[in-house]
Amino acid sequence: MVRTYGHLIDGEQIAAASGKTFPVENPATLEVVAEAADGDANDVARAVEASQTAFDRYWRRTTGRERAALLTRFAEIIASRVDQLAQHETIITGRPIREMRAQVGRIPDWYAYYAGIAQTAQEVVAPFGPQYLNYVQRLPLGVVGLITPWNHPLLILTKKLAPALAAGNTVVVKPSEFAPTTAVELAQLALEAGFPPGVLNVVTGYGPSAGHALAAHPGVAKIDLTGGTPTGKAVASVVGGRLGKVTMELGGKAPVLIFADADLDQAVAGALFAAFIAAGQTCVQGARILVEKTVYDQVTDALVSRANAIRLGDPLDPATQMGPLVSQRQLARTEQYVQIGLAEGARLVAGGYRPKEPPLDRGYYYRPTIFTDVKPHMRIFREEIFGPVTCVVPFADEEEAIRLANDCEYGLGAAVWTQDVKRAHRVAQRLEAGVVWVNDHHRIDPSSPWGGWKASGIGRENGWDAYWDYTQTRSVIVNLDPTPFDWYAGSERYS
Ligand code: NAD
Repeated sequence: MVRTYGHLIDGEQIAAASGKTFPVENPATLEVVAEAADGDANDVARAVEASQTAFDRYWRRTTGRERAALLTRFAEIIASRVDQLAQHETIITGRPIREMRAQVGRIPDWYAYYAGIAQTAQEVVAPFGPQYLNYVQRLPLGVVGLITPWNHPLLILTKKLAPALAAGNTVVVKPSEFAPTTAVELAQLALEAGFPPGVLNVVTGYGPSAGHALAAHPGVAKIDLTGGTPTGKAVASVVGGRLGKVTMELGGKAPVLIFADADLDQAVAGALFAAFIAAGQTCVQGARILVEKTVYDQVTDALVSRANAIRLGDPLDPATQMGPLVSQRQLARTEQYVQIGLAEGARLVAGGYRPKEPPLDRGYYYRPTIFTDVKPHMRIFREEIFGPVTCVVPFADEEEAIRLANDCEYGLGAAVWTQDVKRAHRVAQRLEAGVVWVNDHHRIDPSSPWGGWKASGIGRENGWDAYWDYTQTRSVIVNLDPTPFDWYAGSERYS
C-alpha cells in the first residue's frame, strides 16, 4: 500500500490545493513507494501565511530558553527514531543503510548545539561614547524558506532548520522532489516535541513551481538553499530582485591532494571514501585526486583494485557499500560524462558501466569509475558530475598541486594527505576552499562553519555564523546627556 503524504501546514497534513500528487520512487527497485502532494504557489501562500501567523501570535515572543527546551526535546525524539528515519531515507535515496544510520545518528547533535546557542547568545553594547547607551538587539527575520536537495535530505534540512528555529524564525521547507517525505516526517516529530503549529511547515513539490513560489514570495525574509550552482544563481536572482536575504550552498569539485610522504594506505582509503560515499553524489566529493608523481602508479593501482572491490547491492542490506544513484536523471548525467571523458581522450581504468547482474540491473546502479590521463582543460576535470566518477592526476611538486587544486570555478571542500605537519598547514592555507581536511574527508560538526568560496556559494551553515545569519539587528541609541540640545536654536532671529 503506497502511502500518500500531504504538505504539513499549520500542524496538519493537507492535500495540495490542486489535488495533485507526484510519485516517490525507490531507486534500487524503481517501485513507487509514496505519493507526495504536488505543491504550487497556492500551497506556498498558505504555508507562508500560517508561518507568519505563528510568528506574530507567539513564536517571536518566545525566549531563547523556551526555544532551547523545545530544541532539546526535538533532539531526544529524533535520537529515539534514528532507525526508522534512516531506513526511510535509504528507501527514497538509495543510499546504503550503513551510511544513513551514521548520518541520521548525528542529526540530534545539531538541535542540541543550537539549543545551547539559543540560551547563551548575548547581545552587545556598542562603544558609541559616554553620552550614549547603544544596545544592539538581535531579532529573528520572520518567515524563512529552506530549499533542500536529495543527497542528504534530513541532514541538510537540519543544518538550516536548527539555527533558524533557535534564532526565533518560523519556517517553510521545500524539500527535493526526489526525497520529499522524510521532511514531512521530521515536521511531525517537531509537533510531537511541542513546537506550536505553524512554526515549521513543509510544502512538497517541484523546483520551478513550489520552489520558485517560495523564493518569489514577498513574505519570506530569507531563502537558504542547497543545490546545484545553476539553481543557486537562478534562485538568488529571484530573491535578490525583491531584496530578500540568501544563503546558498552550491556545487563542488573537491581536490584530494596526496603527497608521497602520506600514509598511503590511509590516503587511498580516504580518497575512496571521498569519491564514492553516497555513490559520489556529495557536494564535497573527491572528484579530482591529485597524486605526487613518485607514488602515482602505486596509488592509482591501489585505488583501481579497491574501487573494483566495492560491493554494490540492496541499500537496506548492512553489508552493501554502494547503492544506486538517486534517479534516472543522475544516472543519465553520469553516463554522459563518462562518454565525454572518453571522447576527450581520458583513460577509463575502473568501472564505466552499469552492473548487469540481477537484481542490480533494475535500479540506477553504476560501478565506481576512475579516469587517468586527465588534463586540466577536460570537462571531466572541471565540471561537477555528481556521480561515482573521479579523476586521478599526477603532480610534480607542491606548487603544481596547489595550482591544479585551485584551477576550478568551485571552492567548497578540499583534502590534503601528508605526514609533514608544516606542509599540511602550508598547503591548507593556500587552498581556495571553505573547508579543508588534513588526512581526512567529509567530517562535519554543528560547530564547524561550512560553505563555499567562488561558485560554491554565499554564506555559511553551522556554528555562530549560521545563527547570526538568521537574525537582524536593531541598534537602540539612548541619549544620556542631561544638556538640552537644539540644533536650530537662534534661527528665530531670521524669521
Ligand atoms: P537542484 O539544484 O536540482 O535542486 C535543489 C533544490 O532546489 C530542490 O529542492 C529543487 O526542487 C529546488 N529548485 C530547483 N529549481 C528551482 C527553482 N527554479 N526555484 C526554486 N527552487 C528550485 O540540486 P539537487 O540535484 O537536489 O542536489 C545536487 C546539487 O546540490 C549538487 O550540485 C550539489 O553539489 C549541491 N549540494 C551542495 C551542498 C553544499 O553544502 N554546498 C550539499 C549538498 C548538495
